[in-house]
Amino acid sequence: MRHRIAVVGGGPAGLTFARVLHRHDHPVTILERDSAPDARPPGGTLDLHDQLGQLALDKAGLLAEYHALSRPEGQAMRILDTDGTVLRDWRPRPDERANPEIDRGQLRDLLLGPMDVQWGRGVTEVVPGTRDGVLVRFADGREETFDLVVGADGAWSRVRPALSSATPHYTGVTYVETSLDDVDTRHPDLARLIGDGSMAVYGVNRALVAQRNSGGHVKVYAQFRAPLDWHTNPDRHLGLNGRAGQDAGTGTGRDVGTGVGTGRDTGMDDSMDASTDAGLDLGDVEAVRSSLLALFDGWAAPVLDLLCHGTAFAHRPLYVLPASHTWTHVPGVTLLGDAAHLMPPLGVGANLGMLEGAELAESVVAASSPGDLDKAVHAFEEQMWARASNRAKFTMAGLDRLVSPDPAQAIALFDEVQS
Ligand SMILES: Cc1cc2nc3c(=O)[nH]c(=O)nc-3n(C[C@H](O)[C@H](O)[C@H](O)COP(=O)(O)OP(=O)(O)OC[C@H]3O[C@@H](n4cnc5c(N)ncnc54)[C@H](O)[C@@H]3O)c2cc1C
Repeated sequence: MRHRIAVVGGGPAGLTFARVLHRHDHPVTILERDSAPDARPPGGTLDLHDQLGQLALDKAGLLAEYHALSRPEGQAMRILDTDGTVLRDWRPRPDERANPEIDRGQLRDLLLGPMDVQWGRGVTEVVPGTRDGVLVRFADGREETFDLVVGADGAWSRVRPALSSATPHYTGVTYVETSLDDVDTRHPDLARLIGDGSMAVYGVNRALVAQRNSGGHVKVYAQFRAPLDWHTNPDRHLGLNGRAGQDAGTGTGRDVGTGVGTGRDTGMDDSMDASTDAGLDLGDVEAVRSSLLALFDGWAAPVLDLLCHGTAFAHRPLYVLPASHTWTHVPGVTLLGDAAHLMPPLGVGANLGMLEGAELAESVVAASSPGDLDKAVHAFEEQMWARASNRAKFTMAGLDRLVSPDPAQAIALFDEVQS
């Protein structure tokens, strides 16, 4: 049976859902707010796990192409001390394929393949239960109806309010992201420091992490605990007043910012907004650089050099949904990926969303009547909630250890995961 299906959002979760339907010759309407695939930078590298994202690509018939594109050497991980001493240096075996890295842009293009996407179609609202099905309202004022609308529209989902009143809350941890280009030729010392994959340095309530993408591009993340409005008075909020390095504890920041939405999602925005607040101007590259260098003052110069070359900084406060986020099933509407279970970025979100997309698509294809479709979606939700809740608790606990008052916790976490 051919159901009228729409997926809102062309990220990893939505595109995997659509691609598996496409593989089974089931029509699907892909509604994406961005005006074109390259409307904004796609973001950093993703590692796809063999039991999650890779399984989803297998269901989409794309696993071999993924292996041809991905970077198994990117599984390498180094941890350095704040004085530059190498504490850990894990390198993958030549045949290791548990979590190869792939650029987000490459993954998007792989998933898109021959599919048509309706670009520039921002959804504003979804209304279930109308006489002709589920009504979708668009930013341009148009409306359409479908039998099933799948919200794969990320952290600040416009589909989610049809099912749940939950909104993301701030974790107390902020990333400030910058990047380096042609690292092997322009910054060979940093290239050696980073190695073939990722490197991280953990201090008190702060960390510096660098991750290779393809083509010598490196993303650098300064991570720290701070109130959401830290930039209005960095000296006070980040403890920069004459105190430096390991002594400049930022506090847990746990009690601030909850429920405050900036409209940013956790990874997809591509530019730093100029702040109108007094204090640090988030649009002033050199001011942000100075503030970060002060935050990491006392760390080894080769490590701090990671912050010295970027030409832009993006502000990414980390938000999450409650780990136990569920909703009362509503026929005709469901959620996938970050829209359903936004969690800290510890290498899980895209993987889960892709597997959910593939599984839901297979259930939709197997459903031979509207009643079957509804049962299949409900069963899918039950399975997604249980799995995502476990992962959300794990990643939240992981974030607490990675950006923690005790840097040894971060290394212990890696020792557990790597083993
Ligand atoms: C720094 C960082 C590193 C990460 N690393 C990893 C990793 O290695 N592995 C991993 O598995 N996960 C990782 N994640 C998490 C991962 O990025 C997300 O979980 C993943 O992108 C979620 O995919 P999604 O398709 O659900 O949502 P998104 O990727 O957010 O895609 C949502 C899509 O919906 C569109 N959209 C939004 N609103 C609307 C609307 N109203 N109408 C129409 N379209 C709309 C958006 O334009 C976007 O294209 C990382 C996250 C961060 C921040």
